[in-house]
Amino acid sequence: MFGGWELGRLAGIRVRIHWSFLLLPAFVAWSVGSMAGAQAALAAVLFILAIFGCVVLHELGHALAARRFGIGTEDITLLPIGGVARLQRIPRQPLQELVIAVAGPAVNVVIAASILVGTLVAPNGAATLLDSDVLSGSFLGRLFWANIALVIFNLLPAFPMDGGRVLRSVLAMMMPYTRATDWAASVATVMAVLFGFLGLFGNPLLILIALFVFLGARGEAMMVRMQPVVEAEIVQAGDLMQQQFLTVPSYARAADLAAWMPRTNQRDFPVLEGQRLVGMLRDADVLMAMASGQRDRTAAELMRRDVPTVLRNDALLETYTEMERMGLGSLPVADASGLVGLLSRDRVRRWIESLQLKTSPSMARSQL
Ligand SMILES: [Zn+2]
Repeated sequence: MFGGWELGRLAGIRVRIHWSFLLLPAFVAWSVGSMAGAQAALAAVLFILAIFGCVVLHELGHALAARRFGIGTEDITLLPIGGVARLQRIPRQPLQELVIAVAGPAVNVVIAASILVGTLVAPNGAATLLDSDVLSGSFLGRLFWANIALVIFNLLPAFPMDGGRVLRSVLAMMMPYTRATDWAASVATVMAVLFGFLGLFGNPLLILIALFVFLGARGEAMMVRMQPVVEAEIVQAGDLMQQQFLTVPSYARAADLAAWMPRTNQRDFPVLEGQRLVGMLRDADVLMAMASGQRDRTAAELMRRDVPTVLRNDALLETYTEMERMGLGSLPVADASGLVGLLSRDRVRRWIESLQLKTSPSMARSQL
């Protein structure tokens, strides 16, 4: 289900690393190594790892603050763009959300302050810091500025950054929860547009951040809207699944599949071995195989195997969150008799949009 490895536990919380994280040190080692040699490459990789150590401590800050309010953390995951602490829930009291959101950046403040104190007592300490920035200078100097940058970046008042949650929780002290979320999401959208605009004329990295913020804001607003219905346990995965859908046998060849797949409006297909569900196949993967001349590859070779099966009476919210997290278009739905339906993300999304619920001071999304 998860594409990565478990590194170990910190304060009882699993720390995991996504495989794509390895691309970052590999890229840095390659780009620095080709310009400045092996020793510089090693130093650059060590620096990246030190920053990610700080990111893990940041996430641990969120997790331990949440624990104080009786909220557990599923795990902490390292991605190339940063860390994610998956809390089991976010508290309804705005003050608690505020404390949890601030706890992460506060850890980076403490790290920066420790480096500051540590270097100032050393001879020439102040110069070590002042002559450095994030990209050049001494190791500790760069680490100091990197932590300052982490604090500033995370406190931008935009979802999915911690600052977005700070803004929402402060607003929620004055107005209903959903309205506070709408306001915070609007601020995030404006910031995303601003970043995108600045990115066009300067750092292209800003465009990436803009996209990240834009999607985060949209997801947050949507989650808060759908929560009341799902919380009432009215809606289950089985209520929204399609009962009419096509399946694919595991031995089917790409060439044969490509001939009829475009004629249906289904995008994801459960793959069966006999009667047994073994994976999910996306039409995009079949087309990709065709484009690279792999006409004879079978559904079993092209499908995704790490797809969880949903039970008919699973809560829709959890199912939807899982689909978003794994980037899946559809999930198979089963009961005791076997495969009974297909739940697509688009269908759930359309349904949420049709709801337009604006009540209830509750919430769901929990990544910090
Ligand atoms: Zn954070």
